[in-house]
Amino acid sequence: MGLEKQHPDPIEKEGAVVEGYALAGEWNRMFEQRVIWDYDFTPLEKIGELPGGESLNWCYGCGKCIPVCPVDIVGDYGPRKIHRKGQMGVDLFKDPDLWLCTTCGNCLRVCPKEVDMIQIMPAVREVAVGEGNVPAELQSVFEKTARYGNALGENPRKRVEWMKDAATPVRILKDDPSPVDVLFLIEDYWAFHPRGRDAARANARVLNRLGVDWAILGAEEKTIGDSQRLAGEKGLFEMLVEDNVALFSKYEFGRIVTSDPHAFNALRNEYPKLGHSYEVLHYTQLLGQLVPKLTFSKRIDAKVTFHDPCYLGRHNGEYDAPRALIEAIPGVEFMEMQRCRANGYCCGGGGGAMWLDSFTADFTSERLSERRVREAVETGADILAICCPYEVSRFEDAVKSTGNDGKLIVRDIAELLDEAMS
Ligand code: SF4
Ligand code: SF4
Repeated sequence: MGLEKQHPDPIEKEGAVVEGYALAGEWNRMFEQRVIWDYDFTPLEKIGELPGGESLNWCYGCGKCIPVCPVDIVGDYGPRKIHRKGQMGVDLFKDPDLWLCTTCGNCLRVCPKEVDMIQIMPAVREVAVGEGNVPAELQSVFEKTARYGNALGENPRKRVEWMKDAATPVRILKDDPSPVDVLFLIEDYWAFHPRGRDAARANARVLNRLGVDWAILGAEEKTIGDSQRLAGEKGLFEMLVEDNVALFSKYEFGRIVTSDPHAFNALRNEYPKLGHSYEVLHYTQLLGQLVPKLTFSKRIDAKVTFHDPCYLGRHNGEYDAPRALIEAIPGVEFMEMQRCRANGYCCGGGGGAMWLDSFTADFTSERLSERRVREAVETGADILAICCPYEVSRFEDAVKSTGNDGKLIVRDIAELLDEAMS
């Protein structure tokens, strides 16, 4: 006897008698065999053929990714499920699941087969973007970024407005192009978001108190665009790389420091792949090197917990510098959330998800930022310290929507340092 699969005939009787009961044909359909070999594997095979998409088919269903995926914790997701749905004919190129992954990287950390959603998602999204299958709010961000050089669609001239109330001098390279040690990239949310601007001002005061030789690009700055890349707009990212590299080449500087872990990630890992390497630091790393020079005039008597940004911690291995800065502040009692460092829970803003909250709401029971705020409140902390410009608005909204107004405040590490040093 051969080993060929036997296909049973489906049961399609008009009526049947089961244990004395006559059943209509409608009920008989319950007994039909599921014809599972008819699933269409074409979309799954197409993903496997994409550069970057190969590893999805390495999944062997062990389930290790399930408890660590932040989206699975508030929904029904994770690489194992994405792969299984693909085996069942779901076309990820057209499915909402394509846009839910925040590229946080926690699944890759635990996956024995190295199924790499950080490569898979941008590769599949790039095809979807090319075919015009993009959520409208994300498409709008792509267009604003292409037109104005920032995700918020703001006039580039407003990039320097935050400086007005900084009460400390800030050098703009276009006005004073002499060599400088630190080229500081403010990035979009510190430049334009009202609470981001608070952190930009605080950071400027801290850098000046420490005597750092630094300057900014001002209205010339454009976003680095890493989240747009991860959201599938590789062409836009490459255009931004060209523009930024040309801009950087106009000035003489020692290193780049940025407010934004996403920009830090791209400058550290993606720009070199395109032939452009710089010494680059996140601002907490620069300040972390200067901890012995920090002089404080005030105590902050508070319990403080800290949220690890995925693109500073898990993607680039920096966990200690932000903690060293927080713990250096007199009066602070530092406390960790249960999920922290390499297992930190994503705020929900990475990989383009920053701009997809209303889209994602249809597929999750709560926002990831809301889940994270609950975890911060559980520690008993008074302050949730952050160091990513995406996070202040996400977490401040989540504090309100979870009913924790008055129990927890969100402060950038730059703001905490500035307050304690003032
Ligand atoms: S951890 Fe990796 S191999 Fe295991 S189910 Fe998840 S994606 Fe598949
Ligand atoms: S990268 Fe993060 S959000 Fe995406 S599937 Fe993996 S664990 Fe989930």
